[in-house]
Amino acid sequence: MIDMNRRGLVIAAGSAITASAVGLPAMAATAGRKLGYAIVGLGGYGLGIIIPQFKNCEHSKLVALVSGDPAKAKRVAAEYGVPESGIYDYKNFDSIKDNPEIDIVYVCLPVSMHAEYTIRAAQAGKHVMCEKPMAVSSKECEAMIAACKKAGKKLMIGYRCHFEAHNLEAIRLARSGAIGKLRYFRSEHGFTAGNPNAWRLKKAMSGGGSLMDIGIYALNAARYMTGEEPIAVYAKETTDRNDPRFKEVEDMIEFQLEFPSGVIGSCMSMYSANQNHILLMGDKGRIDLEPGTRYDGNKLWVGQDRSKQVDPPPGPGKTQWAAQLDHLSQCIVNNKEPIVAGEEGLRDIRIVEAIYRSAREQKRIVLA
Ligand code: NAD
Repeated sequence: MIDMNRRGLVIAAGSAITASAVGLPAMAATAGRKLGYAIVGLGGYGLGIIIPQFKNCEHSKLVALVSGDPAKAKRVAAEYGVPESGIYDYKNFDSIKDNPEIDIVYVCLPVSMHAEYTIRAAQAGKHVMCEKPMAVSSKECEAMIAACKKAGKKLMIGYRCHFEAHNLEAIRLARSGAIGKLRYFRSEHGFTAGNPNAWRLKKAMSGGGSLMDIGIYALNAARYMTGEEPIAVYAKETTDRNDPRFKEVEDMIEFQLEFPSGVIGSCMSMYSANQNHILLMGDKGRIDLEPGTRYDGNKLWVGQDRSKQVDPPPGPGKTQWAAQLDHLSQCIVNNKEPIVAGEEGLRDIRIVEAIYRSAREQKRIVLA
């Protein structure tokens, strides 16, 4: 079965990315009604990045906030025009079920809280957008998928890069044969972690270290850039356990992914150096993104070296976040599965678990 994507590119249905990342399926507008989002967690990402994006959306609006800090919630509500009736805390969260303005709950909480709030949102009759990484374990991911299925609600993971212009163009170029037969994928993702007391460095809240938080971009990109699912992984961890930041979670973890076509993926994840890079090598050239998955300023080259920089066509929305938020709204109205549904998050977490196991047991792990 084949599918024709938005840019006229023929892609195989049922492959790892089907419509994802190479373009979005054509969908009807939301008939004038914007779907209402409740943002859970007014932290760096929820408040700093997501909430200001609704002004760029065509099909989505902000209607509610969930926060443990009433003064902050009130201030944010006033700034963004959310009525007082749309302010919730973690205790009265379940009463969102009585608010018909809320269609979608967007979970922007520490990873250990993703499963609980996704499941409670589904039980309250709401669709869910959940941040990456989906949860601390594949078991939790499965429970989240099951809860949304049982409630008849959509579940999407906040993989914004599937809506980002440079990534979309890189995938299109790779699929179009611009670099010949793909042989090798490489990606390094990292940043320098600071405060040792941050939830990201507490295993119970984060589920793991750099791999869960930032290395997952390299892993997810390896899958959407190649369009394949890895069949085996091999990983090695390097962490200075005397560093107060890394008492509980890993710093550096490098992992190799083997793909069915023979492509090798080589990734590095770090909490002690800043890097953001994706490189695809084919038998006729290279596609290079550096930075590749940032909020802005991503750059793309194609050719033998970095002499030809590519300015990608505009992405599917005004910004990658507007496209991501509107995609779920449109999927709900058109009853389509999101291109990065819960199953996509689960696939990554299953591979993450295999990577950790490989590093622990110092052996190659074959993936089911
Ligand atoms: P953050 O620490 O800045 O914000 C977390 C929010 O959760 C805060 O408002 C905090 O008050 C609230 N919270 C509620 N209960 C808490 C508890 N028990 N402990 C700690 N905080 C609690 O974190 P963040 O950077 O906003 O990350 C939130 C989620 O967003 C994470 O899943 C993260 O991976 C994801 N994220 C995604 C991207 C992206 O580009 N897609 C970028 C950054 C973060």
